Amino acid sequence: MKVRVNQDGCIGCGACTGYSDKVFTINDDGISEVKVDIVPKEEEQNVRDAIDACPTSTIEEVSE
Ligand code: SF4
Repeated sequence: MKVRVNQDGCIGCGACTGYSDKVFTINDDGISEVKVDIVPKEEEQNVRDAIDACPTSTIEEVSE
């Protein structure tokens, strides 16, 4: 599984990092970034929850 954050849509709420701080981080501009190339298997459900929880629908799964 791979994900990306559309940085134009991110409002830096931190919900995604709350679900998985192994996959998401808030950068110096206050915007979420994906910090892994491939989501670790054990984080996949957390990432799906983050996708559902993102208030601006800014996180999307990308096909590998
Ligand atoms: S949940 Fe969405 S809006 Fe909030 S920081 Fe993460 S990507 Fe940005």
